[in-house]
Amino acid sequence: LLSVAEARDRLLANFSPLGTIKAPLAQAIGKVLADEIVAQFDLPPFRNASMDGFAICYADLVGISRENPGKLRVVADIPAGQVAPVKILRGQAARIMTGAPVPEGSDAVIPVEDTDFNQRQPGLAAPEWVKVYKEMKPGENIRSQGQDVYEGEDVMQPGHRIRPQDVGFLAMLGVAEVPVHRSPRIAIFSTGDELIPVDSPLIAGKIHDSNTYTLVALVEKYGGIPLNLGIVPDQAEAVKECLDLAVAKEADLILSSAGVSVGAFDFVRNVVEQYGLLSFWRVNMRPGKPLAVGEYLGTPFVGLPGNPVSAFVGFEVFVRPAIMKMAGITFLNHLTQAVFLLEPIESDGRESYLRAIVENRDGRLAAYLTGHQGSGNLRSLVQANALLLIPSGVKSLPAGAEVAAWFLGEVC
Ligand code: AMP
Ligand code: MG
Repeated sequence: LLSVAEARDRLLANFSPLGTIKAPLAQAIGKVLADEIVAQFDLPPFRNASMDGFAICYADLVGISRENPGKLRVVADIPAGQVAPVKILRGQAARIMTGAPVPEGSDAVIPVEDTDFNQRQPGLAAPEWVKVYKEMKPGENIRSQGQDVYEGEDVMQPGHRIRPQDVGFLAMLGVAEVPVHRSPRIAIFSTGDELIPVDSPLIAGKIHDSNTYTLVALVEKYGGIPLNLGIVPDQAEAVKECLDLAVAKEADLILSSAGVSVGAFDFVRNVVEQYGLLSFWRVNMRPGKPLAVGEYLGTPFVGLPGNPVSAFVGFEVFVRPAIMKMAGITFLNHLTQAVFLLEPIESDGRESYLRAIVENRDGRLAAYLTGHQGSGNLRSLVQANALLLIPSGVKSLPAGAEVAAWFLGEVC
C-alpha cells in the first residue's frame, strides 16, 4: 500500500499548469493569474477629496475655532468627475465633493460639518462665502495621488486565485482582460448497476446516484469545469465507451467513482489496466483505500471509491490538488488548524480522515466526531464542519490530544 503522501506526489507529477488565456474581467473570477499585474498608472490617479467639504489653504485656518471662525470666499464648485481650472489662493475656498480632484493651491479639505454650510441637498448652489470653524492639518481629507498604488508597481503575482475584491481592484487598474490559466476540464462519471438518477423513484435494490452531484460540485468549487457523463452500467464495454467519450471531450482529467475495488463487477480498474495505464490502485488511508490512478489514452485518470464519503475524501486529498495545480495555483495544501479532542478516538492505523465538528470552547478549538463514521454514511459528513487528520500508525488518541483539522468550507 502506498502512503497518502507518496500517492499524492506520484499523482501530482502527472500534472502541470494549463496554458494561458486572456479572460474578460467579468469572467476572471475564480481563475488563477498566469502573469503578474503591473500598475500602468497611480491609484488614486489624481489627488482627490475624501470628504464633501471645501478645498482650502490650511494656513488660512490656523488659530480658528467655532468661537473664532474664519471666512473664505468660495471661488469654485467642484463635483466629482470634473477638473476645476482654478488655483485656490489665500483667503479662498472651493466647494468640493468626495472623489473630486483637489484644485491647485489647496492643501486640505474642511468637511461641510465644520462650516456654516452644512447642507448637501442635490442641486443646492455653493455659497459665495463660507465660515469655517476648525483648524485642518496639511493634507487632511485629501487622498494623495499614488497613495494606494504607484505606476509600475507589481500588484498581483501569478498563482493568485482571483476573488471578488481582486476583480474590483483589476477594474480600478483598467485591466479589461486578465491573463489566467485555462480552467481544467474534468470528465465525471459514476459506475454501478444499482445507480438510478435522482428524479427516478427508488425501486428495490437501487439507490440514487449521489457521487456525480458531489463530484460536479467539488470540481466547480475548486475552479474546474465539470463534464458530467452521468451513470455508466457495470459492463467493461460501457466503461470503455465512457472513457473514450471523456477523451473525445478533451478532458484534462477523467474522474470516475466506484468499480475500482476487488468486486466481481468492478470493471473500471480492469478497463484502465487493459486499454490504458494503471499506475497504482490502493492507498493506505481511511476512508478511500481503493483509489485507482493512471491514464487512459494519454489523459490522466483517477478512479475514486464508490462509497460516498470515500469519494469525497479521495477527491479532497488527491483530486483537489491536481485541479489546483492545473489551474495554476502554487500552494496546493489544505490549511490545517490544530484542535484538541473532546473525546478519545480509535483508528485502524491507516491515515484517517474523521468527520468532526470543531467549535470554540473557552477560546480553544475543540473537536468531536459526528455520528457513524462508515464510508457510506454521508450524513455524518454533512453534519461535520471539518475532517480530523489522524496520521498512519496511530491506533488511538485520548481526549485532550491535539490533532490537525481541515475545515470543509474554505476554497484554498
Ligand atoms: P463499489 O466501489 O462499486 O464497490 O461501490 C461501493 C459502494 O458505494 C456501494 O455501496 C455502492 O452502492 C456505493 N456507490 C457507488 N457509486 C455510487 C454513487 N454514484 N452514488 C452513491 N453511492 C454509490
Ligand atoms: Mg459497484
